[in-house]
Amino acid sequence: MIEVLGLAYLRDEEVVFTEPRPFLTTLDDVPFAAFDLLRGREQLNIPVMTNTVGCPFDCTFCYKDVMAGRGYIVRPVDEAVKYLKHAYRFTRRLWWTGGKKTIFLGDDNIAANQKWAIKFFQEAARLGYRDLVLTCQMRASACRNDELMNAVKAAGVSTIFFGFESTSDDDLIAMSKRQTGDDITHAIQACKKRGIGVNAMIIWGLEGHQPGDHLKYVDFLLEHGVEALFLFMFTPLPGTPDGERIRQASFMLDVPTRFFDLQHIVFKHPNMTPLQAQMAHLEALESFYSLRQTWSDVRSGKISWHSALYRIVGWTSLPAARSQAHHYNNIYLLK
Ligand code: SF4
Repeated sequence: MIEVLGLAYLRDEEVVFTEPRPFLTTLDDVPFAAFDLLRGREQLNIPVMTNTVGCPFDCTFCYKDVMAGRGYIVRPVDEAVKYLKHAYRFTRRLWWTGGKKTIFLGDDNIAANQKWAIKFFQEAARLGYRDLVLTCQMRASACRNDELMNAVKAAGVSTIFFGFESTSDDDLIAMSKRQTGDDITHAIQACKKRGIGVNAMIIWGLEGHQPGDHLKYVDFLLEHGVEALFLFMFTPLPGTPDGERIRQASFMLDVPTRFFDLQHIVFKHPNMTPLQAQMAHLEALESFYSLRQTWSDVRSGKISWHSALYRIVGWTSLPAARSQAHHYNNIYLLK
């Protein structure tokens, strides 16, 4: 095992790292995932596959340079489509998608090369898999390309996960996102008009945030009928520009690294106490996933019954979120 580069494993209760693995420079020779060798694959509901690595943008909080190096590489389109066919063979039907198969295209930014993405989605549509549903991750700004969005829809993409991060232009400029609040509104509309669901990934606890800002995000997303919210706590990860800057300023809290899970405040926020930030995170989730709100949005036609199901699943996860937050507060923030 020691000869395999880029591994971390436990030996006698100690974490051992092998030599780092150089970053990939091409995907031409990278084999498809051997789903058939996966232990417990009968329980694998939604396989994940990727055909691109990296991202050409430079958001200051993002870990992608640490994980993938700089640059953006893609698998040739014909190989990417073969990979999709391969994954399809090993995907099972799910009752909650009406007996269809679902595959998650896990690329961080599948449409960074829009020409490649259009071709890939067009070819995927040509496979004619009527019982296949795809989900993927894209930047909001890519939704301004109608040809791309039409290809995405034709390929059977049912939901897009968007790293909106924030709906405030000030936040977006501060993190070098190169995206505006207008891009976000446009992306939601472009998806809604094609019947594609929008899952919003938002970061709470950015350094510019003030107490109370968390509810502004929630109001914006509810107003636009977004179906699901993934609310991440701003986490200065090692190796990222924000992470290095905040570490050098000694603003990190003294908490175990297992809490660097994007759900816990791990640094001293300039405008609120760690406890305030943590409780605001919980309040935002409770507010978005409130059953009363979901019912009202269905009745007013803002979201479909199908989208309401996502919200109800989110609501069922609230007790665990509450319990985790209180546990963390009691041990680390209230001492
Ligand atoms: S666009 Fe997404 S993947 Fe690319 S740097 Fe920004 S956060 Fe990271």
